[in-house]
Amino acid sequence: MSIFIKNILLDEQTTNISIKGDKIHAIGTDLVPAADDTIIDGANMAAFPSFANMHGHAAMSLFRGFGDDHNLSDWLNQWIWPNERNLDSEIIYWGVRLACLEMIKSGTTAFADMYFFLPDAARAVEESGIRAILSQSFVDLHNPEMTANVRREVEGMEQMICEWNSSHTLTQFSIAPHAIYTVSNETLKFFADFCHRHNLLYHIHMSETNSEVENSLKDNGCRPYELLDRLGILEQMGSHFLGAHSLHLSQHEIELLGKYHCNVAHNPNSNLKLASGHKFLYNELRNAGVNVTLGTDGCSSSNNLDMIEATKVMSLLQKGWRNDPLAMPASEALNVATVNGFKALGVDAGEVAVGKTADLMLVNLDNLAFVPNNNTMSNLVYAAHGDCVDTVICNGKIVMRHRHVDGEEETIREARRIVSKLITVRPE
Ligand SMILES: [Zn+2]
Repeated sequence: MSIFIKNILLDEQTTNISIKGDKIHAIGTDLVPAADDTIIDGANMAAFPSFANMHGHAAMSLFRGFGDDHNLSDWLNQWIWPNERNLDSEIIYWGVRLACLEMIKSGTTAFADMYFFLPDAARAVEESGIRAILSQSFVDLHNPEMTANVRREVEGMEQMICEWNSSHTLTQFSIAPHAIYTVSNETLKFFADFCHRHNLLYHIHMSETNSEVENSLKDNGCRPYELLDRLGILEQMGSHFLGAHSLHLSQHEIELLGKYHCNVAHNPNSNLKLASGHKFLYNELRNAGVNVTLGTDGCSSSNNLDMIEATKVMSLLQKGWRNDPLAMPASEALNVATVNGFKALGVDAGEVAVGKTADLMLVNLDNLAFVPNNNTMSNLVYAAHGDCVDTVICNGKIVMRHRHVDGEEETIREARRIVSKLITVRPE
């Protein structure tokens, strides 16, 4: 497939973009389309890289608006866990289809996910036409019997993971230890050995709350990232490490993350809603050499998957808590939400430039957020919402055109139907 986008605004200049196969082949004002190109008229549109949503639980979109405004332990114990017992292949499939639909409609073409039922989730992502690293989440609750079970289960998945990863491009599988407070040191290390052996992403919730840090100091005699360093996991995983949240960090932990070129995924909306904290140490992490990426977290804690909203909130939070209007300008915020995420996923995308993988979006300049259009990037980050996205291309293929996504009506219908099978316990 080849695509020719004509008269498109890119970096405030009107130009043409030629896409061949999965790559951006050429950009220039003097390009002409080939006979078999699919032509997209870019008049009144601007091109931007699409987003990489670097932490979430896609199928939890079915829990949107369920159990809001409770504290974390009530929410988990009374609202979420009793209903997660109902999860099955069909629920996961339609939950992930719903999440992918929302992501496409707001310009996201890649995500890092942590949940269950990998083959069903992958089928939903592949059929949606976007990309994801899907990690199966595990806990052993520091219980030796469960530790042995988790090990057996992961060993049982080994062949399936290797076969899937070697035969698919858009979706890749991994395993994820949920967090240090739900997973024993032995399992944390076993997962790192497994991920290292198979070249997989090690995705884990880290330092999300103050109490997690305090409990680690009490139980382990050190802070969460110091524990992973002591276990040799940061060094072993390096740029294959993805620490979601990473909100409560010491200078020593930041140095460790930088030393091993690790990735972290900041989730500002989730952190604010759950009152986990708001002083994300962006400048400090960036200066230490850490690759900072952005995520929304699942829809049960951030309620939507709109990366434009998350980008704005991230930037405003940096300005706010630092008391510095120059903190995290729009262009830097957009890089965190795009190119940094793709880098962590090992995909050469996140920039609309020749030779890059063709993951990009076209935004509609007739959307009021771009009227008047004094600065396109500024309008995208500070004024727009996901509904400004008109066209989305992933891996050189069109997945949304003029806001039409194939299968949208069916996905909405099935999501509404399946939720009654998922949510059977309603406190209050
Ligand atoms: Zn999470």
